[in-house]
Amino acid sequence: MQITFPAFYKEFSCIADACPDTCCAGWQIMIDDKSLRKYRRFKGPFRNRLHNDIDWEEKSFRQYDRRCAFLNEDNLCDIYSEAGPEMLCDTCRKYPRHIEEFEGLREYSLSLSCPEAARIFLSRKDRTTFRTIEKSSPKETYEDFDYLLFTALMDTRDYLLSIVQDRTIPLELRRKKLLACAHDFQLSLDKNELYQWEDIRRRHQKSGVGETFLAKLKKWTASGTDSASCHKQIWKTVIPEMEVLRAGWHEYLDNILKVLYKTCDTETKLSECCQEFLNAYPDWEIQEEQLLVYWIYTYFCGAVYDGQISAKIKMAVICTSMIHDLAVATYLANDRRFTFNDLVSICYRFSRELEHSDLNLNEMEKLMDEDETFRFENLLLL
Ligand code: SF4
Repeated sequence: MQITFPAFYKEFSCIADACPDTCCAGWQIMIDDKSLRKYRRFKGPFRNRLHNDIDWEEKSFRQYDRRCAFLNEDNLCDIYSEAGPEMLCDTCRKYPRHIEEFEGLREYSLSLSCPEAARIFLSRKDRTTFRTIEKSSPKETYEDFDYLLFTALMDTRDYLLSIVQDRTIPLELRRKKLLACAHDFQLSLDKNELYQWEDIRRRHQKSGVGETFLAKLKKWTASGTDSASCHKQIWKTVIPEMEVLRAGWHEYLDNILKVLYKTCDTETKLSECCQEFLNAYPDWEIQEEQLLVYWIYTYFCGAVYDGQISAKIKMAVICTSMIHDLAVATYLANDRRFTFNDLVSICYRFSRELEHSDLNLNEMEKLMDEDETFRFENLLLL
């Protein structure tokens, strides 16, 4: 069995009571069966409290004021301190570690929804790298696992990450190249021409972001609409389809996006504001790269289960673009000031709404695949 993880993975340790927004509030924490059995058998003075604050039917911890019943006033976990760390359930023990499973490989990452993980990840200036190690464990086989497709996806992801991390190219072009490659790879899979993947990659490597590619971009890019309308349309399409996990999320978006679209009601004004934001907060360029890497590393190879290659790249681009909109809006709302902590806060809140809900993740991918707003030609406008 191989394990892959980002090089910074082991830097994480929970900052507990110093956390600006603990993960033990705002969502229902489900308990795995093994932990439930441990809780049922637990003996000692903490037993009554433990038993009373578990919803045995729902298999979750009870909540009071949307906080886990075991989260005390100091924002520390009473199960951890009263019963011991070995009594934490699977979710609490693993979070914010996220695992994607494939035949013979597990890929670990840290979820952007944890403020500390987001801080570690976004504060990196160097290119994110990954390590793979061998672990001796019994060989697992997955029924119907398409190993050929998986190998092609892994190779393709390496190539896509090399595009995203090529700092000699402006980010806007890296993003477009990413979309174009994913579009072509998707076409080859849809036509059952997997054998063409190598050729597609070679072709894209050869054309790079030179004149031929730029001329094609011009031809492909949608006409009759503009970037400002495209950004607005993305929010209008995505948000009504998502379940809300935290009260106040829609109000927050309404207020902050109003500022953005009142100030930037034309393409020219939007472009000026984005440039102004970049001048005031130049770190965004590297952080945009890190965010694209995050979404691609975490979700791209999952296409082995559903064949949604292009949707996964579109999702990476859209999520990063939505975070960017919120960052520019925050900059405008805060008298043209923006800090690293503002970005961390936007990222973990956005990620919690999206990534803590399978329903939202699935809906997002469906929109990327089916909704007109996310046509490849439209996304080239961003
Ligand atoms: S969100 Fe992250 S840092 Fe905060 S309490 Fe949870 S694991 Fe710890």
